[in-house]
Amino acid sequence: MFDKNIITIDGSRGEGGGQILRSALALSLVTGKPFCIKNIRSKRAKPGLMRQHLTAVNAAAEVGNSETRGAAIGSQELFFAPQEVRHGSYNFAVGTAGSATLVLQTVLPALLLGAPEQMSVLTQEGGTHNPLAPPFDFLAHAFLPLLNRMGPRIETWLDRPGFYPAGGGKFTVSIQPTPKLQRLDLLERGEIIQRSAESRVAHISIGIAEKQIGLLREKLLWPEECFHTKSVRDSQGPGNILIVEIKSEHITEVFTGFGERGVSSEQVVAGVTREVSEYLDAGVPVGPHLADQLLIPMALAGGGKFRTVEPTPHTSTNTEVIQQFLEIPIAKREIKKGVWEISVG
Ligand code: AMP
Repeated sequence: MFDKNIITIDGSRGEGGGQILRSALALSLVTGKPFCIKNIRSKRAKPGLMRQHLTAVNAAAEVGNSETRGAAIGSQELFFAPQEVRHGSYNFAVGTAGSATLVLQTVLPALLLGAPEQMSVLTQEGGTHNPLAPPFDFLAHAFLPLLNRMGPRIETWLDRPGFYPAGGGKFTVSIQPTPKLQRLDLLERGEIIQRSAESRVAHISIGIAEKQIGLLREKLLWPEECFHTKSVRDSQGPGNILIVEIKSEHITEVFTGFGERGVSSEQVVAGVTREVSEYLDAGVPVGPHLADQLLIPMALAGGGKFRTVEPTPHTSTNTEVIQQFLEIPIAKREIKKGVWEISVG
């Protein structure tokens, strides 16, 4: 079915989830290289393209004026050939509670490269605070500020939060591109300047937020003024997120956990505490999610280096996908127990 010169990606490799597809779309848009992918999300309970992934494919197709084949719900095979990147105004709506931030992840690398006058404004609709995806707060406070240090000017604001399963959230992103991304080195965290923890609830009892914050205080033993609860009224449906933000001299990291039916507050707090403690104990600047997400921008910049906690399967899988599109070495080594250094280029 497909041309031999087209990059062929096996979506079942490594992590075997949506990230392989999104990274391939992002890299195809930037490099102009067409690709086909088979076994899309074959390691997930419901394999193939779900609404959120199809929205990402269609978003990439719109931005890249691309030819696509196989772009349908449930499809496990896709062909994608971009023609040109078109900066401008877009509205990408997932239509369900699927993650709108992951749709952004797909088109952002292409839109942040270009002449400064080629502005884009994206309206992203769907889930803004979803488990297993970057929550809006992570995007706004951790990821995008690092990208801005590489040259573009990206601003974002939350218009309305959207939690799983109701969705209905919305955020806006404005992007002033840069002709070339600057390399980024994140080797030191520096002094911790501010620590905060917030449990946010939407249309459910504030008592849940108070319980989570109480449990978290017992675990983290930070001063009382670090802890907050908040009731959100402008979301379509109920939701609960626990967010820990650690602002250091050289980087801000954001860790999150989600409450949902069948998941106790104890479990939510335990998950967040584990991630925060590992990060603080390792003394590194970059946490596990920033690690996989920084690889594409660093590879496009031609270089970068960071210290992080033990790399996740997402990080290893993203490395493989990047190396199918770009000839760039990406090396990881454990420099001491629990501390890893990842070098790109
Ligand atoms: P996938 O599981 O293949 O759909 O990819 C999920 C993506 O979301 C990866 O890039 C993860 O790093 C990212 N992600 C998942 N959970 C979080 C979180 N709590 N904070 C930030 N990013 C996340």
